[in-house]
Amino acid sequence: MFYRALTLLLPLLMAGTLLAEEALSPPTSRPNPHYEPLPFAPSLPDKFSWSSGKTEKKLIALTFDDGPHPQHTPALLDILKQYNVKATFFTVGKNVDRYPEIAARIIAEGHEIGNHSYSHGDLSKMSDSEIRTELDRSKDAIRRATGVEPKIMRPPYGGLALFPFQRSWIYTEYQYPTILWSVDPFDWRDRNSALISQRLVAGAHTGAILLAHDIHASTIAAIPDTIYQLQSKGYTFTTVSQMIAQKKNQKPNNDSQD
Ligand SMILES: [Zn+2]
Repeated sequence: MFYRALTLLLPLLMAGTLLAEEALSPPTSRPNPHYEPLPFAPSLPDKFSWSSGKTEKKLIALTFDDGPHPQHTPALLDILKQYNVKATFFTVGKNVDRYPEIAARIIAEGHEIGNHSYSHGDLSKMSDSEIRTELDRSKDAIRRATGVEPKIMRPPYGGLALFPFQRSWIYTEYQYPTILWSVDPFDWRDRNSALISQRLVAGAHTGAILLAHDIHASTIAAIPDTIYQLQSKGYTFTTVSQMIAQKKNQKPNNDSQD
Protein backbone atom coordinates (compact mmCIF):
# COMPACT_ATOMS: atom_id res chain seq x y z
CA MET A 1 0.00 0.00 0.00
CA PHE A 2 2.77 2.37 0.94
CA TYR A 3 4.72 1.42 -2.17
CA ARG A 4 1.67 2.04 -4.33
CA ALA A 5 1.12 5.41 -2.72
CA LEU A 6 4.77 6.24 -3.25
CA THR A 7 4.64 5.21 -6.90
CA LEU A 8 1.65 7.41 -7.49
CA LEU A 9 3.30 10.28 -5.68
CA LEU A 10 6.65 10.03 -7.43
CA PRO A 11 5.95 12.62 -10.13
CA LEU A 12 4.97 15.05 -7.42
CA LEU A 13 8.09 14.37 -5.46
CA MET A 14 10.10 14.98 -8.60
CA ALA A 15 8.26 18.21 -9.15
CA GLY A 16 9.49 19.24 -5.73
CA THR A 17 6.16 20.52 -4.56
CA LEU A 18 5.14 21.03 -0.99
CA LEU A 19 2.20 18.86 -1.82
CA ALA A 20 4.32 15.74 -1.81
CA GLU A 21 5.55 16.46 1.67
CA GLU A 22 2.00 16.92 2.86
CA ALA A 23 0.79 13.78 1.11
CA LEU A 24 3.16 11.50 2.99
CA SER A 25 1.83 12.54 6.34
CA PRO A 26 -0.68 10.14 7.93
CA PRO A 27 -4.24 10.45 6.60
CA THR A 28 -5.47 10.89 10.16
CA SER A 29 -3.86 14.34 10.17
CA ARG A 30 -6.27 15.50 7.46
CA PRO A 31 -9.38 17.29 8.59
CA ASN A 32 -10.99 16.64 5.20
CA PRO A 33 -10.24 13.15 3.86
CA HIS A 34 -11.56 14.11 0.43
CA TYR A 35 -8.55 16.28 -0.23
CA GLU A 36 -6.15 13.41 -0.75
CA PRO A 37 -3.75 14.67 -3.39
CA LEU A 38 -3.59 12.35 -6.39
CA PRO A 39 -3.52 14.80 -9.24
CA PHE A 40 -2.51 12.56 -12.12
CA ALA A 41 -3.43 9.37 -13.89
CA PRO A 42 -0.25 7.76 -15.18
CA SER A 43 -1.98 5.02 -17.18
CA LEU A 44 -4.07 7.42 -19.23
CA PRO A 45 -3.01 9.44 -22.27
CA ASP A 46 -2.51 13.12 -21.57
CA LYS A 47 -5.65 14.17 -23.33
CA PHE A 48 -7.81 12.62 -20.58
CA SER A 49 -6.12 14.06 -17.55
CA TRP A 50 -3.64 16.81 -16.65
CA SER A 51 -2.02 17.77 -13.38
CA SER A 52 0.46 20.12 -15.06
CA GLY A 53 1.22 21.41 -18.53
CA LYS A 54 3.87 19.90 -20.79
CA THR A 55 4.97 23.27 -22.07
CA GLU A 56 8.61 24.24 -22.24
CA LYS A 57 7.71 27.92 -22.03
CA LYS A 58 7.78 29.36 -18.54
CA LEU A 59 4.00 29.29 -18.21
CA ILE A 60 1.93 28.76 -15.09
CA ALA A 61 -1.81 28.46 -14.48
CA LEU A 62 -3.64 29.85 -11.47
CA THR A 63 -6.93 28.05 -10.81
CA PHE A 64 -9.68 29.07 -8.41
CA ASP A 65 -12.33 26.60 -7.31
CA ASP A 66 -15.81 26.72 -5.82
CA GLY A 67 -17.01 30.25 -6.64
CA PRO A 68 -18.36 32.54 -7.71
CA HIS A 69 -18.40 34.15 -4.29
CA PRO A 70 -20.33 37.44 -4.06
CA GLN A 71 -17.46 39.42 -2.46
CA HIS A 72 -14.25 37.45 -2.88
CA THR A 73 -14.53 36.66 -6.57
CA PRO A 74 -15.04 40.30 -7.65
CA ALA A 75 -12.14 41.33 -5.38
CA LEU A 76 -9.96 38.69 -7.02
CA LEU A 77 -10.99 39.81 -10.50
CA ASP A 78 -9.91 43.36 -9.61
CA ILE A 79 -6.48 42.02 -8.58
CA LEU A 80 -6.09 39.89 -11.70
CA LYS A 81 -6.97 42.89 -13.86
CA GLN A 82 -4.46 45.06 -12.04
CA TYR A 83 -1.66 42.56 -12.70
CA ASN A 84 -2.92 41.67 -16.20
CA VAL A 85 -3.15 37.99 -15.23
CA LYS A 86 -5.50 35.47 -16.82
CA ALA A 87 -6.73 32.63 -14.59
CA THR A 88 -9.08 29.67 -14.66
CA PHE A 89 -12.18 29.38 -12.47
CA PHE A 90 -13.70 26.01 -11.69
CA THR A 91 -17.08 27.33 -10.67
CA VAL A 92 -19.80 25.37 -8.92
CA GLY A 93 -22.97 25.39 -11.05
CA LYS A 94 -25.35 26.36 -8.27
CA ASN A 95 -23.15 29.35 -7.44
CA VAL A 96 -23.15 30.36 -11.10
CA ASP A 97 -26.96 30.29 -10.99
CA ARG A 98 -26.84 32.41 -7.86
CA TYR A 99 -24.30 34.94 -9.18
CA PRO A 100 -24.53 34.81 -12.99
CA GLU A 101 -23.27 38.38 -13.36
CA ILE A 102 -19.99 37.45 -11.69
CA ALA A 103 -19.58 34.42 -13.97
CA ALA A 104 -20.22 36.72 -16.94
CA ARG A 105 -17.57 39.12 -15.67
CA ILE A 106 -15.03 36.27 -15.40
CA ILE A 107 -15.47 35.48 -19.09
CA ALA A 108 -15.71 39.13 -20.18
CA GLU A 109 -12.30 39.81 -18.59
CA GLY A 110 -10.58 37.02 -20.51
CA HIS A 111 -10.46 34.24 -17.93
CA GLU A 112 -11.57 30.65 -18.40
CA ILE A 113 -14.40 28.83 -16.63
CA GLY A 114 -14.24 25.06 -16.16
CA ASN A 115 -16.94 22.64 -15.05
CA HIS A 116 -16.69 21.77 -11.33
CA SER A 117 -20.11 20.03 -11.11
CA TYR A 118 -23.42 21.60 -10.09
CA SER A 119 -23.68 20.81 -6.40
CA HIS A 120 -20.04 20.02 -5.48
CA GLY A 121 -20.75 16.46 -4.41
CA ASP A 122 -18.11 13.75 -4.57
CA LEU A 123 -18.45 12.40 -8.11
CA SER A 124 -16.56 9.28 -7.11
CA LYS A 125 -19.56 8.23 -5.03
CA MET A 126 -22.07 8.78 -7.85
CA SER A 127 -23.37 6.63 -10.66
CA ASP A 128 -22.45 7.58 -14.23
CA SER A 129 -25.93 9.01 -14.78
CA GLU A 130 -25.65 11.11 -11.63
CA ILE A 131 -22.26 12.40 -12.83
CA ARG A 132 -23.86 13.31 -16.18
CA THR A 133 -26.59 15.25 -14.38
CA GLU A 134 -23.99 17.15 -12.35
CA LEU A 135 -21.89 18.02 -15.40
CA ASP A 136 -24.91 18.89 -17.58
CA ARG A 137 -26.53 21.18 -15.01
CA SER A 138 -23.23 22.95 -14.42
CA LYS A 139 -22.54 23.32 -18.14
CA ASP A 140 -26.04 24.74 -18.69
CA ALA A 141 -25.64 27.22 -15.83
CA ILE A 142 -22.32 28.45 -17.24
CA ARG A 143 -23.77 28.77 -20.73
CA ARG A 144 -26.83 30.68 -19.47
CA ALA A 145 -24.67 33.09 -17.50
CA THR A 146 -21.80 33.61 -19.94
CA GLY A 147 -22.84 32.40 -23.38
CA VAL A 148 -19.88 30.02 -23.53
CA GLU A 149 -19.49 26.36 -22.63
CA PRO A 150 -16.70 24.99 -20.47
CA LYS A 151 -13.99 22.98 -22.22
CA ILE A 152 -12.40 21.39 -19.16
CA MET A 153 -13.56 19.91 -15.86
CA ARG A 154 -12.19 19.38 -12.37
CA PRO A 155 -13.91 16.86 -10.07
CA PRO A 156 -14.69 18.21 -6.58
CA TYR A 157 -12.16 16.94 -4.00
CA GLY A 158 -9.99 15.60 -6.80
CA GLY A 159 -12.48 12.75 -7.23
CA LEU A 160 -10.12 9.83 -6.71
CA ALA A 161 -12.47 7.18 -8.03
CA LEU A 162 -12.57 8.99 -11.33
CA PHE A 163 -9.36 7.16 -12.05
CA PRO A 164 -9.31 6.04 -14.75
CA PHE A 165 -12.53 4.86 -16.33
CA GLN A 166 -14.71 7.85 -15.51
CA ARG A 167 -12.10 10.27 -16.80
CA SER A 168 -12.06 8.36 -20.03
CA TRP A 169 -15.81 8.39 -20.66
CA ILE A 170 -16.13 12.00 -19.49
CA TYR A 171 -13.53 12.93 -22.10
CA THR A 172 -15.27 10.87 -24.76
CA GLU A 173 -18.73 12.27 -24.03
CA TYR A 174 -17.94 15.86 -23.09
CA GLN A 175 -14.46 16.38 -24.56
CA TYR A 176 -13.47 17.57 -21.10
CA PRO A 177 -9.92 16.78 -20.04
CA THR A 178 -9.89 16.25 -16.26
CA ILE A 179 -7.76 19.04 -14.77
CA LEU A 180 -6.12 18.37 -11.42
CA TRP A 181 -3.15 20.29 -10.02
CA SER A 182 0.53 20.11 -9.16
CA VAL A 183 0.68 22.67 -6.35
CA ASP A 184 -1.77 22.67 -3.44
CA PRO A 185 -1.25 25.41 -0.81
CA PHE A 186 -3.99 23.89 1.41
CA ASP A 187 -5.68 27.28 1.46
CA TRP A 188 -8.98 25.67 2.47
CA ARG A 189 -7.33 24.52 5.70
CA ASP A 190 -4.73 27.15 6.55
CA ARG A 191 -6.32 30.60 6.37
CA ASN A 192 -2.98 32.35 6.45
CA SER A 193 -2.18 34.55 3.46
CA ALA A 194 1.58 34.61 3.95
CA LEU A 195 1.70 30.83 4.22
CA ILE A 196 -0.53 30.34 1.18
CA SER A 197 1.60 32.67 -0.92
CA GLN A 198 4.83 31.06 0.28
CA ARG A 199 3.55 27.58 -0.64
CA LEU A 200 2.33 28.65 -4.07
CA VAL A 201 5.63 30.34 -4.92
CA ALA A 202 7.81 27.55 -3.49
CA GLY A 203 5.86 24.88 -5.37
CA ALA A 204 5.78 26.70 -8.70
CA HIS A 205 7.45 25.16 -11.74
CA THR A 206 7.15 25.45 -15.49
CA GLY A 207 3.72 24.16 -16.49
CA ALA A 208 2.43 24.16 -12.89
CA ILE A 209 -1.28 24.18 -12.20
CA LEU A 210 -1.78 26.03 -8.91
CA LEU A 211 -4.85 25.13 -6.86
CA ALA A 212 -6.65 27.81 -4.84
CA HIS A 213 -10.20 28.67 -3.75
CA ASP A 214 -11.82 32.06 -4.40
CA ILE A 215 -14.23 31.59 -1.48
CA HIS A 216 -11.76 32.49 1.27
CA ALA A 217 -10.62 36.05 2.08
CA SER A 218 -7.20 34.74 3.12
CA THR A 219 -6.68 33.22 -0.33
CA ILE A 220 -7.60 36.43 -2.14
CA ALA A 221 -5.23 38.38 0.12
CA ALA A 222 -2.42 35.99 -0.82
CA ILE A 223 -2.75 36.52 -4.56
CA PRO A 224 -1.09 39.95 -5.15
CA ASP A 225 2.17 38.88 -3.52
CA THR A 226 2.01 35.46 -5.20
CA ILE A 227 1.62 37.03 -8.62
CA TYR A 228 4.33 39.61 -7.95
CA GLN A 229 6.82 36.97 -6.87
CA LEU A 230 6.07 34.57 -9.71
CA GLN A 231 6.22 37.33 -12.31
CA SER A 232 9.55 38.40 -10.80
CA LYS A 233 10.78 34.84 -11.38
CA GLY A 234 9.84 35.13 -15.04
CA TYR A 235 6.57 33.19 -15.12
CA THR A 236 3.74 34.13 -17.44
CA PHE A 237 0.22 33.32 -16.29
CA THR A 238 -2.12 31.62 -18.69
CA THR A 239 -5.43 29.78 -18.65
CA VAL A 240 -5.42 26.02 -18.31
CA SER A 241 -6.77 25.43 -21.81
CA GLN A 242 -4.14 27.70 -23.32
CA MET A 243 -1.41 25.95 -21.42
CA ILE A 244 -2.36 22.38 -22.24
CA ALA A 245 -2.79 23.37 -25.89
CA GLN A 246 0.88 24.37 -25.88
CA LYS A 247 1.94 20.78 -26.13
CA LYS A 248 0.40 20.36 -29.56
CA ASN A 249 2.02 23.52 -30.85
CA GLN A 250 5.51 22.80 -29.60
CA LYS A 251 8.30 20.43 -30.41
CA PRO A 252 7.09 19.44 -33.90
CA ASN A 253 9.80 16.77 -34.16
CA ASN A 254 9.05 15.06 -30.87
CA ASP A 255 8.53 11.55 -32.29
CA SER A 256 9.71 9.87 -29.12
CA GLN A 257 8.26 12.30 -26.59
CA ASP A 258 4.75 10.88 -26.38
ZN1 LIG B 1 -14.16 22.27 -5.22
